[in-house]
This record gives sequence, structure tokens and C-alpha cells, in this order.
Amino acid sequence: MAKKKALITGVTGQDGAYLAKLLLKKGYRVVGGERENSSSNLWRLKELNIDKKIKIVPFELLEENLINKEIRYGRYNEIYNLAAQSFVEKSFVSPVYTSNVNALGVIRILEAIRQFSAKTKLYQASSSEMFGNVKSRRQNEDTSFEPVSPYAVSKLHAHWMIDVYRNAYNLFCCSGILFNHTSPLRGNEFVTKKIIGDLIKVKFKILPEVLLGNIHVRRDWGYSHDYVDAMWKMLQQKKPEDYVISSGITHTVKDFINKVAKYLEMDIFWQGKNLNEVAIDRATKKRVIKIKKKFFRPNDINHTYGNSSKAKKILKWKPKTDFDLLVKIMCDAELSKYK
Ligand code: NAP
Repeated sequence: MAKKKALITGVTGQDGAYLAKLLLKKGYRVVGGERENSSSNLWRLKELNIDKKIKIVPFELLEENLINKEIRYGRYNEIYNLAAQSFVEKSFVSPVYTSNVNALGVIRILEAIRQFSAKTKLYQASSSEMFGNVKSRRQNEDTSFEPVSPYAVSKLHAHWMIDVYRNAYNLFCCSGILFNHTSPLRGNEFVTKKIIGDLIKVKFKILPEVLLGNIHVRRDWGYSHDYVDAMWKMLQQKKPEDYVISSGITHTVKDFINKVAKYLEMDIFWQGKNLNEVAIDRATKKRVIKIKKKFFRPNDINHTYGNSSKAKKILKWKPKTDFDLLVKIMCDAELSKYK
């Protein structure tokens, strides 16, 4: 049987790299879409030792012609659209750009599939950010959306367009509503990676302290490596449907810091409140964490807490890596850079 062929947009990102590895393992021909940057950004693929095993093609969500050409002539069985302006904070600074990439970019892909490749299956990377500060304690596929950031609104626009094209044109397209997931391949600007990277620098006296925003928000965190498996499973179903993918456990950012500090054998204690809250290293008596107003989002979600019962039942998917193991994997990867 001929090998299946998949295009992963955003292959240079965290999920793109793990998904490429998974699809190669499953025997796919993997093509990765990379946008034109001044320098190539293949370090994650190199880290996983797969950079030579996939074909890289130029792919820019703002470029309709490029998208049309790739989808028309690529003859893909599956497309995973993971490309996005994915940083929520940046979306407040660049809302127009974020919408153009994250919302209109998906319509460009949908239109190309509709016109030139109607049998191609599409996975769209939706986000738990779309739920915003919705009242329900846990969120599943039936929970309503109340987005609170330009990023979340752009993702919701794309999410609804997937639904429209699925119903209006009978395309096989679906969205994974993924809750926060991280890994050693996460970008340094994201909070989990920043906490680990900076706390290690403090431990090794490279940095005086870690500066953070709101540490009292709760997040449902999982491991990217586990979550890409759910993406693939969604496209193997008979019927295209949307699924919530989450760990089903929620922790504050402060819990995350405490876990990391413990793993790094840093004995910290907290004092003060709100903007004056700080963490002190018991051994050195020095402040190691300080809260800075500038790192607060203009509008934030208080808690995310997902319910993936549908994925468990239909996709037979559940996360394999718990919170403690995730912290260990990420800390070990960061520590290995100092050996
Ligand atoms: P990521 O590491 O930030 O990767 C984003 C990818 O999109 C990168 O390859 C980036 O390329 C590419 N990209 C950015 N702008 C583009 C454009 N205009 N045209 C083409 N490519 C562009 O994100 P991730 O963590 O892997 O997440 C994957 C997807 O899931 C994203 O859509 C994200 O919004 C969504 N999501 C993530 C989470 C999470 O917790 N990680 C949760 C829910 C949903 P460069 O390498 O050139 O920057």
C-alpha cells in the first residue's frame, strides 16, 4: 500500500516536531511547512533527529497563492494545521496580524482544500483559550466560548469556520481543542519554560531572580508528546468531529514553581501579597522570584480545567505523562544543557 502523505504546517514549532516524529514512525511521508524567516528554524527537528527525514516546503499562512499551490499539487492525505501566531501576550500587541494569520490563514487553507483537494483531511489546532472565563468548572466540547484575548478570538473564528466547511461542503476537517501543553521543545517565552530556564539560571548564579506575572491563574497542563497522538487519532476516525484534549488536572502557576524548585533542590518560601509577593531561597536568604505588573496579560483566564471524556471514549486517548513527570522531563532536559 502506498505510504500516506501528510503536510504539517508550523513544523518548526513544538507540536510540529513531535507530530512529525510520530507520523514518521507510523510510516508517513512527512512534508513540513516552514515560513520564510531570515534564518531557518529547524532546531526542534534536529533535536529529535528527524530534520533529514522530512521534506521542508515554504508555507506562509498569509500567502494565499503559496497555500493554493501546495495543497493543489501536494496531493496530501492529511494536513495538520499547527502554524499560528501562538503567543497570547503578543496577540494584544498585534491583534490584526494575529487574526490574519490564525483566522484568515485557516480560511485560506479550507478554501484551497475545497477547490483543489476535497478528499484531504484537515486537523486544526484550536485552543482552550477559546473558553475564556466561562462559568463552568470543567470544559468539554459542549461548553460555550467566552474568549478574552485577540488570540482566543482568532482561534474561535477558525474553529467555527472548520464547522462551517465540514457541514456546508462535507469536508473531513476537525478541531482539537487542546489545553496547555508543554515540553522541553516549548518556546522560551512561554511560562513553564521560562520558570524552569530562569530558576536553573538562578540556582547556578547566572541570573539574580525570576520575574513573573500572575502566578495565581490555574492551568490544565499536559505533555506535547502525548497530545500529538490525539491529533493523529482524530483524522483516523470515520466521522470528523471536534475533541477536547486535556490532562483533567489543574494547577496554579505557583504550584508549578514550587514543584520545579523542589525538583531543583531549591528550598523556597513565599511572603507578601499581590504585586509584593516574592519567593525567598531559605539557604541564601535571597529573593529568587519577583512579580512584575508588566508580565500580567491585559485580560486573563482565571482557570482552565478540561474534560476529555469524549476523546477517552472514542479516540481511546488519554494522557500518559502526569504533572510530576512532566516537570521532571522538562527540568532534566534544561539541566542537561549545563553539563
Ligand atoms: P509554536 O511552538 O509557537 O509553533 C507555531 C508554529 O507556527 C511555528 O512553526 C511557527 O514558525 C509557525 N508560524 C507562525 N506564524 C506563521 C505564519 N504566518 N505562517 C506559517 N507558519 C507560521 O506552537 P505549538 O505550541 O507547537 O502549538 C501548535 C498549535 O497549537 C498552534 O496553532 C497553537 O496556537 C495551538 N495550541 C497550542 C497550545 C499549547 O499549549 N502549546 C494549546 C492550544 C493550542 P516559526 O518557527 O517560524 O516561528
